[in-house]
Amino acid sequence: MNSESPSIGANGRLASRPSKRVAVVGAGGVIGSHLLPHLARMKDVEQAVLIDGDSYEPSNLYSQDITLPDIGERKVAVQARRMRRVNPSLRVVALPHRAEEIPAGLLRADAVLACLDSRSARQYVNEIAWRLGAPWIDAGVDGDNLLARINVYLPSGENPCLECGWGNRDYELIEQKYPCSSLEGAASNGFPTNAPSHLGALAASLQIAECRKVLDGVFDPASAAEELLVDARHNRLFRTSTRRNPDCLMDHSVWALDKAIGVPESASLFELPAFRISARGNADSVLQVLGSRFVRRLTCAACGETQEVWRLQRSIAAADRNCCTCGGARVAAGFDVADRLSSGEIPDSVLRRPLREIGVRPQDILRVFGNGAEHFVEVIAG
Ligand SMILES: [Zn+2]
Ligand SMILES: [Zn+2]
Repeated sequence: MNSESPSIGANGRLASRPSKRVAVVGAGGVIGSHLLPHLARMKDVEQAVLIDGDSYEPSNLYSQDITLPDIGERKVAVQARRMRRVNPSLRVVALPHRAEEIPAGLLRADAVLACLDSRSARQYVNEIAWRLGAPWIDAGVDGDNLLARINVYLPSGENPCLECGWGNRDYELIEQKYPCSSLEGAASNGFPTNAPSHLGALAASLQIAECRKVLDGVFDPASAAEELLVDARHNRLFRTSTRRNPDCLMDHSVWALDKAIGVPESASLFELPAFRISARGNADSVLQVLGSRFVRRLTCAACGETQEVWRLQRSIAAADRNCCTCGGARVAAGFDVADRLSSGEIPDSVLRRPLREIGVRPQDILRVFGNGAEHFVEVIAG
């Protein structure tokens, strides 16, 4: 698995290797559907991971690169089929989920391409790409103003990330669907824009051109995080650079996954490297699952009954949320949701459960730290 990780050399340039893996988040939409046929035609791309939780609706015919029979189908299924028709030897992994719902290790790639219309989803990809050390290329469109935009982010050294360019207004808008980061006017209405098909194709072409450079190791690190914006209405081109912001809210650490230990999903928390040593010891060690949060307990909003769960938030099904006592809805209170757990707070019975029972899946990436040690774990099947 170590060979899977992209590498950024001492000169800040990307090292090139023969067969490539590319992950596409928001794979079937206005930009992604136009992008994928180009990706399928790249001879050195051996594996494409497509991530998109949506299905095609009739209105998508006018903005996305699909045909009538595709309506009603999962976007990733349609697009995987198209890519295999172009290149039958391409390995296509089609994941009908949002990026936040899948183990973060599935985004380990030589390039991560984001074709997303939500600010929070882009923020998520930014963080995961950074931890994984994977170059990521963000693309967006604004149909009202006929704008197409791309940014390339290289997670290394002092390079800026997506959030380095964000101000208070960006964080206020975090829950709004907002396609194009340069345009505060478009942001203010909070509605997704109806971008025409050709605008999506324009953004896709710009994005795949940068992807080619990243895969070839010839992308200029001096252009990292620079925004390239095409104004198709007035035939204008803008390049805007972003500096590394020392007050950036995203911590820029890249996880040392080349040192990760493989642990099967049948292992218990006790069997994780640092937990084994320090659980119930002098000091606690701390567990993080990349990209996921833990829920300690659920509380019924109607009758107040609580139930301990100790599971990853993404693994809690709708049925788990029904209160057994009154039939009301159980919710996780803010203080019962955490992005990390310390060994001392976890009950013994939970420490002995297999990782899969707390919602951990193969390709999840764990970080265990404390007592001066830090370990990375890559969860494997079995
Ligand atoms: Zn940053
Ligand atoms: Zn209840």
